[in-house]
Amino acid sequence: MSNRIQWPEGKDFAFTIFDDTDLQTLDNVSEVYAFLADIGLRTTKSVWPIRGNKIPGVGGTTCEDEKYLQWVMKLQQQGFEISLHNVTYHTSLREETLRGIERFYELFGHYPYSAAANHTNCYENIYWGNYRLTGIHEIIYNLLLRNRNKGVFQGHIEGSPLFWGDVCKAKIKYVRNFVFGDINTLQVCPFMPYHDPKRPYVNYWFAASEGPVVDSFISMLAEKNQDRLAAAGGACIMYTHLACGFYEKGRIHPRFKFLMERISKMNGWFVPVRTLLDYLLESRGPYGITSSERNKLERRWLLHKIIGTRGTT
Ligand SMILES: [Zn+2]
Repeated sequence: MSNRIQWPEGKDFAFTIFDDTDLQTLDNVSEVYAFLADIGLRTTKSVWPIRGNKIPGVGGTTCEDEKYLQWVMKLQQQGFEISLHNVTYHTSLREETLRGIERFYELFGHYPYSAAANHTNCYENIYWGNYRLTGIHEIIYNLLLRNRNKGVFQGHIEGSPLFWGDVCKAKIKYVRNFVFGDINTLQVCPFMPYHDPKRPYVNYWFAASEGPVVDSFISMLAEKNQDRLAAAGGACIMYTHLACGFYEKGRIHPRFKFLMERISKMNGWFVPVRTLLDYLLESRGPYGITSSERNKLERRWLLHKIIGTRGTT
């Protein structure tokens, strides 16, 4: 699985962003997207199709806000991928999840291609908390968290009022799982997108590189990392929250701007997450992860969490 990928159009590497919609408003994020569009990037922006009716732990604008929706639709027309981050910002029962996914279809003309089905404190998250891990890794996770998350996330548990695994399987192609502290996502997870036979309701999983807010994002995107990504012919999917410091005090964060302009001038393939994953899938065919590959990924992720905990990614 470590064979070098031949990228389309003679490109040296691939780079994209999966933007988690937490805390977004038109005010804090529209300039960031205008900038990304200007430098030729087409990335993936997640949305909440429906407004919640409870107080969110972490909220933000939903597609029920007309002005925001118009803006998101314009992004879609420009070539950005619109994807799903659960259906709203708090726990949703099965009927609500189904309604939200249908609403997504009505708004964007397709079901979500990629998704981060793991918003903080949403108990319908799929294979989340301890269910993200297997065997000894699950036991270690529960010990580390003192069972705080044990059994609470039930999107994949048939019979639970939160179950929607069947719909995930039927409608959504890619779901995000592990996030690592390396810019070359593909080097850490060369199997992606992969199917995990132990987690059958997700068609394909993908991993990402960690940079949840502007400071961690820019340290991951440092010049030496960009050069290493290109030299290795790798692929980077940055998982971030573009509402978190990328645009402040009326301007794009200057170091972010500099680094993104730098990478945009390199010979990279800058396409949305879904396009990148489709390409990998088509080039290599469907792949089912083996137990030893899963072990390796889980161990690496756990170590990364223990050594450098940053949020819930
Ligand atoms: Zn979130």
